[in-house]
Amino acid sequence: MIFRFLQITCALICLNPGALSGQSPSFPIIMIDPGHGGSAMVGSLKDRSNSSSNNAVTRGGLKEKDLTLEFSRILRDELLRESARSGPPVSVGLTRDRDVNVNFIDRAAACNYPNTACIVSIHFNAGAGGKATGSLALISDRKRNRHYDLDYAFGKGLAAACNAGIRQFIPEAKSRGVITDGHLHGGLGSNFFFQLARQKALGKVPRCFLEVEFIDNPKVEAAILTGDREAKFRAIAKPIVAYLLAYVEPGAAKR
Ligand SMILES: [Zn+2]
Repeated sequence: MIFRFLQITCALICLNPGALSGQSPSFPIIMIDPGHGGSAMVGSLKDRSNSSSNNAVTRGGLKEKDLTLEFSRILRDELLRESARSGPPVSVGLTRDRDVNVNFIDRAAACNYPNTACIVSIHFNAGAGGKATGSLALISDRKRNRHYDLDYAFGKGLAAACNAGIRQFIPEAKSRGVITDGHLHGGLGSNFFFQLARQKALGKVPRCFLEVEFIDNPKVEAAILTGDREAKFRAIAKPIVAYLLAYVEPGAAKR
């Protein structure tokens, strides 16, 4: 119990004080992990804790690491606003709330509350020569994942909810559904999932990466990242908020 207290306290103090916000820490906690951050790789390959500071970049020079933080903050605020307005009561945690990279041991530890309800790592995608669109969820491969079906269902719904938000600005965008992490790190899979699996208390908590959109596509950049980006992100977050609150609500849960 003391260890647990220290762990939670450390997660709050070491990473970002006030990381958990909401009506009460005893409510179900939705953990949001803004991918990447800072200016350097942290962690190590040997420990499977390494996190790159940034991956995707737009043609206009916007960085994924900044967009993940912006979007995660807005998602947190909208979750808390909607939770306070019509329930269910939730708390929301961020694994980072500033421009700093956090290794995956610490990101996983920051998610480790007794009442964590789900974990979403926010990312923006790149690939296919700057022509792709679509939201997708990435989950741990079946061969390493005892809760594959749970994660698959969670990720599929989340990608569809995100796509519903995106379609307000890119009507032809489609959800790409769920992919697995078998292609990462030479077949070893995601470091985040590896470290989360070591947090035994998180057991059956559903988890996935949400790749919001392909930001190396100039059309995507123009549609959702230029102009009043904050208002656009709030609009995109709305169906995601509805999905996550329905997911954690007792009785409405799809687990
Ligand atoms: Zn990423």
